[in-house]
Amino acid sequence: MIVVLGAGHTYEHRQAVLRKIQDAGLQAHVSEGVERTIVGIVGDSRSKELLHDGLQLMPGVETVVRILHPYKLVSREFSGGKDTVVWVRDIPIGAESVVVIAGPCSVETREQVLQTAQAVKLAGAKLLRGGAFKPRTSPYSFQGLEEDALKMLVEARDLTGLPVVTEAMDNRQLELVVKYADMIQLGARNMQNYTLLRDAGRSGYPILLKRGPSATIEELLLAAEYIMAEGNHRVVLCERGIRTFENHTRYTLDLNAVPVLKQLSHLPVIVDPSQGTGKWKLVTPMARAALAAGADGLLVEVHPEPDKALSDGPQQLTPATFAAMMQQLDAIAMAVGRGI
Ligand code: PEP
Ligand code: MN
Repeated sequence: MIVVLGAGHTYEHRQAVLRKIQDAGLQAHVSEGVERTIVGIVGDSRSKELLHDGLQLMPGVETVVRILHPYKLVSREFSGGKDTVVWVRDIPIGAESVVVIAGPCSVETREQVLQTAQAVKLAGAKLLRGGAFKPRTSPYSFQGLEEDALKMLVEARDLTGLPVVTEAMDNRQLELVVKYADMIQLGARNMQNYTLLRDAGRSGYPILLKRGPSATIEELLLAAEYIMAEGNHRVVLCERGIRTFENHTRYTLDLNAVPVLKQLSHLPVIVDPSQGTGKWKLVTPMARAALAAGADGLLVEVHPEPDKALSDGPQQLTPATFAAMMQQLDAIAMAVGRGI
């Protein structure tokens, strides 16, 4: 349920509403607009129902709306229909310009990450990605350079100014990653790791939440709800391909998810055409399609020598193909009324 405090409501009106919610043993989440303030109420349904009529009569209250979805704070109703912008340092995700996050699948050497960071920055990327802890299908595959990789990412940030996004796979890694990174990636395999989602919520850091390969859109939204329920509203959703019967590509990039998520939620939505296709030749066409479908950004893997990469070589772009893609994306972003 949400309470909309209308234009002209006072601080006292708002406090009275918050007190009433608290007294009923429910949780209030406040979202401030220019004129209106929206108070999202979460907790037991019966207690919420009992409050409904009383809240409706309180001074300053414009309306009280029941949210019928199982997810509440992530729903578009919660923001009053406004798009949320998630800031990662000085970069807004979900604002007018689309944001490209680029870098290697895994951080492998200092030179590799510094060189890639400079190249993607020059081509127009706004954030740097790079895996320090890698969720590999086989336990015998390269698992990542861990804290050494985090230090290299920080060096790359110092060199280029690009904020850093990297994955944490468990609660212990999360504690380490927040010391170095600017945004925490929660990977597809961990989308339903509820203790990790809660800790990511408590961290207060911007979270890049990837859709599980077998997760429905509703399950993705409920995963985001776990983070937001801890008071962290800085969540970016990422479509990265789902498992279907099709096996020509690594996954099937579900671009339906982009407009669906934008309709159901106020959170920014980005697309990962690298994991989504598994083939570098498909990355540019699907990146174009993602922006045309309304994505707020892209997550793209770039490696100076993809054929020597220690993970995901076949899907990584070279700095040159990345730069060529960025030029094409410029035109698409303009065509849909956005910059890049
Ligand atoms: C990645 O971004 O390198 C990655 C492992 O992503 P996902 O969790 O989507 O598979
Ligand atoms: Mn990868």
